[in-house]
Amino acid sequence: MSEPRLRVLRIVEGTSVDGPGLRTSIYFAGCAHHCPGCHNPQSWDFGAGSPMSVAEIMAVIDYNGADVTFSGGDPFYQSTAAAVLAAEIKKRGLGLWVFTGFLLDELLAAEAPEGARRLLEYVDVLVDGPYVAALRDTSLLFRGSSNQRLIDLQAMRATGTTAPILWSPSF
Ligand code: SF4
Repeated sequence: MSEPRLRVLRIVEGTSVDGPGLRTSIYFAGCAHHCPGCHNPQSWDFGAGSPMSVAEIMAVIDYNGADVTFSGGDPFYQSTAAAVLAAEIKKRGLGLWVFTGFLLDELLAAEAPEGARRLLEYVDVLVDGPYVAALRDTSLLFRGSSNQRLIDLQAMRATGTTAPILWSPSF
C-alpha cells in the first residue's frame, strides 16, 4: 500500500498559540464549514498548499521534538491519512491537539468524514465547533469563540466516559 499524502498549507515550528507549550503546528488545506468571520478563509481551498508524505511531515516533527497540533482548514476532512500521521506522533510519545469545525458528536456519527473515529483515538485534546463571530471572545485560551470547547479526550478515555470532559491548564 502506498504511503498516504496529506495536503498541507504550512507547518509552523515553535508556536505557542495552538495549545500549551511550544508546539509544531500542521495546517491542513481544506475546510467546508465556511464560518462567517473565519480568520483564515484562504485555508478553505482543498487544493491549496502542497501534498506531503507522512515521512516528510514527521521529519519536521522529529527535528523539533515538540508536541503537535493539527489545525487548518479542518484536519478531519483528511482523517484517514491524518490518523496515520497521528499514529506516528503518538509512537514518539508526543502530545496531539486537533482543531476542528465539527462538533465531537458529529465526528462520532455515522455520517462523519471517513476515518474520523480512527483519528480521534490518537487525539489528546480536541478543540471543537465552528467559529461563531457573535460569540467572539479574545480572552479565551486557544480558541476564538465561546461555543468552542477544549475537550480532554485523553481524560475521557482514561475514565471510560462518553460525556465530554473539558481540558483545563495546569499552568
Ligand atoms: S472551521 Fe476554522 S478554518 Fe474552517 S471556516 Fe471555520 S474558522 Fe475557518
